Amino acid sequence: MNTFLFWSCLILALEVTAYKNPDLPGAKSYNDFKVYRSYPKNNDEVDFIQSFESQENYDFWTDLKKGEPVEIMVSPENERIFENKLSTRGIKHEVIISDVQQLINLEKVGSRLLIPNSGGGHNMTWTDYHPLENIYSYLDYLQTKYDFVTTQSIGKSYEGRDMRIVRICRGGCGAKPAVWIDGGIHAREWIAPATATWIIKELVENDYKHPDLTENLDWYILPCFNPDGYAFSRTTDRFWRKTRSDNGNNKTGCKGVDANRNWDFHWNDGGSSSNMCSQNYRGPKPFSEVETRNVRDFLLSVQGKLIFFNTLHSAGEMILLPWSYTKDPAPNYSELYNIAVMGRDAMQTEWKIGCVPCLMYPASGTSMDWAYGVANIPYAFAMELRRKGFVLPPDEIIPAATETWNFHITVVRHIYSKVTQYSLIL
Ligand SMILES: [Zn+2]
Repeated sequence: MNTFLFWSCLILALEVTAYKNPDLPGAKSYNDFKVYRSYPKNNDEVDFIQSFESQENYDFWTDLKKGEPVEIMVSPENERIFENKLSTRGIKHEVIISDVQQLINLEKVGSRLLIPNSGGGHNMTWTDYHPLENIYSYLDYLQTKYDFVTTQSIGKSYEGRDMRIVRICRGGCGAKPAVWIDGGIHAREWIAPATATWIIKELVENDYKHPDLTENLDWYILPCFNPDGYAFSRTTDRFWRKTRSDNGNNKTGCKGVDANRNWDFHWNDGGSSSNMCSQNYRGPKPFSEVETRNVRDFLLSVQGKLIFFNTLHSAGEMILLPWSYTKDPAPNYSELYNIAVMGRDAMQTEWKIGCVPCLMYPASGTSMDWAYGVANIPYAFAMELRRKGFVLPPDEIIPAATETWNFHITVVRHIYSKVTQYSLIL
C-alpha cells in the first residue's frame, strides 16, 4: 500500500470510529441532561433561580439577569424537582435541548484526534475543534515558515503544559504599539481557541491582504489560556470550565478555579464564589492560579506598548467593556462604546455592547478589569462569541471566526490611528 493510500485509509477509519463512538473511554456522559430556558421577570425570581447556581448538577449556560432568558443544564435526577420548583413559583420555563449528549456527539463527528503531519506541515483546520497538540503544531509551522513569527512559552500550566503565545512582529518585537488577544480562559468555550487561531492564520498567512496590520503593530496571541482545562474538556468532561488546580481541597473533591475571577483587581468584590465546587470559584487568593500569574507577568513585560486587549469567551453575542465589577462607567467608556459599535458594524451583527453588569450581573477579579485597571491598557474588551446553543457545531467555526476577525481589523486600525495621532505612547 502506498503512503497516500495508507493515510487516507487511516483517516477514514478514524472518521468512522469517531462517528460510531464519539465518546472517549471514561468521558462523562450527558445522556438525558436537559437545558431549560427560564424567564425571571423580577428580582425575587432572579434570586430564586440564583439559588440553584451553587448546587452541583445545575450548570448555568448563560448569565442571570432580570427580564432576560437564562439557560440552565439540569441532570436527569434533578429534572423533576427543578420543574416542580419553578412551576410552584409560577416562573416560566421550557426545555430547549432535550438530550445534551446528542449535541456533544454531533460536535464530535469528524472531530479527529491527532491527524499526522504531512511533510512538515501542520494539521490545523477550522472545520473541526482540535486538541492542543494540533494548535501547537500550527504555531510551530508558522514559526518555521514566516520570518516575522515566533512562538514563546510564557510558562507552564498547573499540570505542566506549556502556555504558548505567538508573536507576530515585523522587524522584531518591542518597537511598535502592541495588541493582545487570548482565547480559552474558560475551558469549555471551544470556539474561543478556534477563533484565536483563525486570527493568527489571517494575520500571518494572508498578511499580503492587509500589510498595515503587521507593519504598524506587534501582535501577541495566546490561543489556549487554560490548556489543562481544555484537555480535560476534550477527554473527560465537555463542560469543564475552570483550571485543574487542587487548592488543597480533598474533602469536596472539587478541583479548579475560575481563572476569570482570580485577578488581583477588585478580587472578591461581587459576582464570584468562595465555594470550591462553584463554576465561579475565585480561588483562595488573587493570582492563586499559575495560569493567571503567567499571563499577568507577560502582560507586565510589555506594559506600555499594549494599546488593545481582548479576551474571547462564548457564548452570548456581546462586546463587553470595563468594568466587570461595577456599573460605574470606565473613564473612557463612551469612546470604548463607540469603537465597539464600529467593530459590530464591521461584523454585521446585532450584538449587545456594554459593561458586564450593564448586560449581565457583576463579575469581579476578571482579566479585562485587570488589563484596564492595573496594566493600563487603554482599550480593553471581552467578547462573548456567537451562540447557537452553548455547543457550537464545527461548521459554524469559520463564520464565527470570520466575524470576530472583522471586528478586530476595524477596531485595531481605528485605535492605532487614534493612538499615533495623539502620541499617547512611544
Ligand atoms: Zn467564558
